Amino acid sequence: MARLSTKLPIIREQGDPREIIPRLAKELGAEVAWNRRYDAVDVDAEVKRAVGARTFPGFLLAEPWEINTGAGTPYRVFTPFYKAVQQHLIANPPQPVSAPALPGGTRLGVPEAPSWAEGLAEHNTPGEDAALSRFHEFLDGLADGHGYDNNDLSPGATSGLSAHLRFGELSPGYVWAETAAFAETHPAAAAHAWAFLRQLVWREFAWHRLYHLPDLAVRNVRSQFDRFEWAWSSHAAPWDFVQAFADPAMEPDADAAQHLGQLAQWQRGETGVPLVDAGMRELWETGTMHNRVRMVVGSWLTKNLGIHWRHGEEWFWDTLVDADAASNPFNWQWVAGSGDDAAPYFRIFNPLTQQEKFDPSGKYVGRWTPEALLPGYPEPMVDVKASRKVALEAYNDIKGGL
Ligand SMILES: Cc1cc2nc3c(=O)[nH]c(=O)nc-3n(C[C@H](O)[C@H](O)[C@H](O)COP(=O)(O)OP(=O)(O)OC[C@H]3O[C@@H](n4cnc5c(N)ncnc54)[C@H](O)[C@@H]3O)c2cc1C
Repeated sequence: MARLSTKLPIIREQGDPREIIPRLAKELGAEVAWNRRYDAVDVDAEVKRAVGARTFPGFLLAEPWEINTGAGTPYRVFTPFYKAVQQHLIANPPQPVSAPALPGGTRLGVPEAPSWAEGLAEHNTPGEDAALSRFHEFLDGLADGHGYDNNDLSPGATSGLSAHLRFGELSPGYVWAETAAFAETHPAAAAHAWAFLRQLVWREFAWHRLYHLPDLAVRNVRSQFDRFEWAWSSHAAPWDFVQAFADPAMEPDADAAQHLGQLAQWQRGETGVPLVDAGMRELWETGTMHNRVRMVVGSWLTKNLGIHWRHGEEWFWDTLVDADAASNPFNWQWVAGSGDDAAPYFRIFNPLTQQEKFDPSGKYVGRWTPEALLPGYPEPMVDVKASRKVALEAYNDIKGGL
């Protein structure tokens, strides 16, 4: 907003940027520049016209309108999208630009009384310096042979960069350029470096999809899922817990109270399913959760409990430090089966088998829910196999249209 200078304080204002930015630009006599946003295009275009701002594509690897299929339409399938992004970056390698460093935070600001968010501050260090050192530690780890495996649940096994990318503390172009150069000079680690960059392009895919589908967070991408009878409450209050997207005149869901109770059990990590409970408690404590576990808790909510993916999306939006307007709804729709290139609905994770496969030693569950490893832990809130069967039957009812 103000001229980039470490001497100027950060000015915080809340309200309509169309009013605030032109006013501040005038008051400060400042030039205005920003990294383009893709979920507020019209607002930003207005501000840009008003103040003659310069805008840059620093938040993504490519502009959403630059990556299209041969027919000129946006990609809806990941692998060809990934290849197109790679080609684009070979032709247009990300260029470093120098900019003065902005004063960065060293500790997350969290409420002190009550201090419910202390864990967030403990587990997350905001700011560009922290982002850069985390990234370089990650590359050093690859060089030392640690590898990158996004199914490994141990702490530090993945980059931990999502919140830094989300808040623009690190640009994906920089991450791409540095990692691709690293892969050239470290052939033994190149496959791991490229596996990591492929994940970075999932972020890109989510943002390109959001650009083309601005209501990604509230509408099924595959409209056939509008007929699916997920349990949903517009205000999470028992009296209006109705079936999502169904006829608005219909009677409230008779199972309303039960579904809301189940949603609360899921949010608190009290489902009786150790891997789900560990993930939900990790989220509450740290503001983050491993990707594999996000998929498992999402599958449990949307499939075994039959609760709408939008409730999961909203809870993650409120609790994740990397909560992102594109990646969050995109991935929820991916898990629920209603999104682009999504996991097929009938792929219902069995959370007990997932635990055996990805946490055989019980280290992850033991870290967040130690009591789940002891006798006497409650049984799963719904029977794993029976609820899977109910979900598959519900899916069969809409399958004709898929
Ligand atoms: C239900 C659900 C909700 C999610 N919500 C978010 C969210 O709000 N914000 C968010 O950044 N990620 C979200 N993810 C994706 C993923 O879980 C996180 O990006 C990842 O766990 C972050 O850890 P990392 O930085 O160590 O990732 P790494 O494995 O090191 O990956 C590197 C980077 O690639 C990107 N990335 C990796 N996986 C994905 C993915 N599946 N989709 C999009 N980008 C990806 C992230 O920017 C990440 O920092 C969600 C996944 C699921 C299943």
